[in-house]
Amino acid sequence: MKKKEQGPLQVVFICPNCGKHLAWALPTAAISCPCCGLWVTNKNRKRPSVEVFLPVDSEQTVLF
Ligand SMILES: [Zn+2]
Repeated sequence: MKKKEQGPLQVVFICPNCGKHLAWALPTAAISCPCCGLWVTNKNRKRPSVEVFLPVDSEQTVLF
């Protein structure tokens, strides 16, 4: 049985300035916060206490 291939994983983007939950996106993405206009990237995003990854092709969350 072939092992299921793991696609790219999305991470949750949270504004580090106002704490607003923005969206699920790939770590390479940049999302502009609608509240304070800050560009949130994988480098400056506020990380949740438990990092959760969401496969692009699945609704199922993966916990590490
Ligand atoms: Zn913000």
